[in-house]
Parts: sequence; structure tokens; C-alpha cells
Amino acid sequence: MNIARLIETQLPSQYLKLIKLAGNLASQIGQNPYLVGGVVRDMLLGRPNLDLDIVVEGDAVGLAERLGQSVNGKVVVHSRFGTASVKSDSISLDIVTARSEKYPRPGALPAVKPGSIEDDLFRRDFTINAIAARIDARRFGDVVDPYRGKRDLEGKLIRTLHDKSFIDDPTRIWRAVRYEQRLEFRLEEEAERLLRRDVVMMDRVSGDRIRHEIERILREERPEKSFSRAEELGALRQLDPALPGNSWLAGRFGMVREAVVDLRSLNRVYLALLVWKLDEESLDRFMQRLRFGRETARTLREIAELKRVLPVLDQRHFAPGQTYELLEPFTIQSVTAAMFAVESVTVRNRLRAFLFEYRRARPQLDGDDLRRMGIPAGPDLGLLLRELKKARLDGRVSTREDEVELVRGWFNRSRHER
Ligand code: ATP
Repeated sequence: MNIARLIETQLPSQYLKLIKLAGNLASQIGQNPYLVGGVVRDMLLGRPNLDLDIVVEGDAVGLAERLGQSVNGKVVVHSRFGTASVKSDSISLDIVTARSEKYPRPGALPAVKPGSIEDDLFRRDFTINAIAARIDARRFGDVVDPYRGKRDLEGKLIRTLHDKSFIDDPTRIWRAVRYEQRLEFRLEEEAERLLRRDVVMMDRVSGDRIRHEIERILREERPEKSFSRAEELGALRQLDPALPGNSWLAGRFGMVREAVVDLRSLNRVYLALLVWKLDEESLDRFMQRLRFGRETARTLREIAELKRVLPVLDQRHFAPGQTYELLEPFTIQSVTAAMFAVESVTVRNRLRAFLFEYRRARPQLDGDDLRRMGIPAGPDLGLLLRELKKARLDGRVSTREDEVELVRGWFNRSRHER
């Protein structure tokens, strides 16, 4: 089989030029070059993908350096892994030496040695990701598909390459679910049996690697589908027995997506909802295990505290100024998650009012006005601005004059007290 036409029609011309150049440089030094992985899979499916991964049966770093010179691009070498990336204009391309891998124990990093393209494809997660296409001029587009990935693309199946696949690398459990849901494929029967059998192995993998896969799920169009499926397969429970993946999560994720546009915030709100039902002990355990970055960790840590204070918002009488004061210390992401998570309509409305109204309200006087009125710059000034804002939210002031009067009163009182 040959997919030269597919490559030529699906890749933008600059990308095509770069891989043809890489292919020709490789063959000049007697190495066989291939395009592999997700980009080949997606080309065969007609899905856009510009993640160019190249494998050479030979020296990847040497090839990357030659390519870098010839396009005047930037070359980054990871000599420990025998991999390199070349960046030319805005296009980047990864080159690795074909290799075989052996896993010393479950979840550990593999021992690696140079190998053939067949070896390299065999170390991959699923047959649909184990298809390569030659990119040297003489055999451009020739497909290497020793594990019948194309058959599985046609049958819409996620199939592992051997029965120890999930044991060698349990992060593949998350990858299987992600591909299955993204592509609307199905785990092949034996692969599903293996996954269910090996799901306990997930405990042997570092939290960093699991987090990485979870974050990739969160970047999918509909992450809740993967979490539901992970629940069905026992993977979510393996991460923590209290994590929900059912319709509770699905409905909320959908609403969040419509409300939150900024992607980084979206991921944090998703995660906050994912952990919403965990008790404090489980939340701590989950966070220690997955070691989130600083901002995400802050949002998640706040969930426990937020759940403690939310019942206060269920009272009949609770002024907007008080709501503002209560919620102001929290991140927008944790409050947003709470808005979608709580059952009480009263609480939800107050959270919404905080996010879309109270937070944005401004007194008419600003810091400069207060300084001109003789309030020294410092913490008092900040406090006073907050008091003004609360007074405005509660309707105690409405005009600029009202605000001036309030400030004068406050100023005189504090002078009196001194
Ligand atoms: P995406 O999965 O988001 O479409 P991709 O298919 O390019 O992107 P990457 O995670 O970037 O996936 O990995 C590139 C290739 O490396 C995959 O197609 C797969 O062949 C292989 N790979 C990645 N992770 C693993 C893994 N844990 N085990 C085996 N092979 C893997």
C-alpha cells in the first residue's frame, strides 16, 4: 500500500517540504526514514493532525542536525533518549531513532536499544498508532503496517500489540479510553479483557505520568465521555473510589464548557468538578498522588474550604456585600466549579451573582480619590475601597456624594479613636 497522495494532499506545503527534505537527507546517509504515529493514523482517517513524528533506522540526532542546518532551523537534542526536534519557522518535527524497548517491571521506564522499524512500531500503544509511511523519495508513501493497524482503523478498534501492554505501561489504559472516545472506536474484546485485568497496575505508575494523561483527556472535546468510560472499565475507581464519572459529571462538564472560554481555566474547573465529591482525606490523597501545578493545586485545595462555607449562602437573608466578602478570597475557578456543583438554587444564584456581578462592581471613588481626601496609601485604603464596594452592593450608597460622605464619616471616626 502507498499513501503518497494522501500525504501530499493532507499536509500543508511547508510541512510536506520539510518531511521530504528530512526523508532525502536520511536516505543520503543510508538511513530509512518514516513518518509514524498519530499523524499517519489521522491521515488514514482524514482527520487533521500536524504533529510530525519521524523515525529513522539510524542516527536521529545526526539527521536532526543536518536538517537543522539545511533549513536554518533550531535543533534541540535529548541525547539521553536519542531523540531530537527541529524547528523551522513555526513548524516543528520530532525525530527518533528506531528502537526496541523492554520493561524491567510494570510502570517503570523501559530499557531501550536501537532496532528496526518493526521493533519501533511494536513498542507502541495500539495497532492504530503503529503504522509507518516511508518518506524518502524512492519509496515515498510506502506503508509499513506489520500489526494490521489499518484493519483496526477500518474496524474502529483499539487493539494492543501484545498481552503485556497495559502491564508494561498502565498509562495506556487512559490512552485507550481517550482514543476510543475521541475517535468513536471500541476497545477490541481481548484488549478490554486485558485492560480490566491490569487496571490495578495503575498504582505502580508515577503520579506525574498519570496526571499527564488526565490532562490530555481534559483537552479533548468532551472529556466527560472518557471519564464515564474509565468508570465503566474500573480505571476511575482505581485512581480513587469516590471519583464520579457518571451523568453527574457529564451534565456539569457540558455546562462548564459553555460558560468558561479560557482553556486553562476550563481545565481547572473540570478538575475541581471531578474532585468535588471527594472527602478531604481522599482529596489530599488524590492531590499528593497527581502532583498538580501550583495554580491547579490551589483551586483544588480550596474545594474543601469552599464546601465548608457554602451552607452559609443558603440562609434566607444574606446581603450581597456579605456574599462578596465570603467568596472574595477564593479563585474564580473554584467558585465557578461550585456554581455548577451545588444542588441548592439559592446558593447557586448567589455564586452566580458573585461571579458575574459583585466581583465586577466598582465604587465610584477610586484609590486616587481617597488619597486626595487625605487617606494615606496603605492597607487602610484597600480596606476602605472594599467597604465602599460592599456598601454599593448592599445599596447603602448610590451616588458619588454618598460615597464621599461614607468615607468622611469613617475618616472622622478613626481620627476620633486615635
Ligand atoms: P494524540 O494522541 O493526541 O493524537 P499522538 O497520537 O501523536 O497524539 P502522542 O502521545 O503524541 O500521541 O505520542 C505519539 C506516538 O507515540 C503515539 O502515536 C504512539 O504511537 C506512541 N506513544 C505515546 N505514548 C505511548 C505509550 N505510553 N506507550 C506506547 N506508545 C506510546
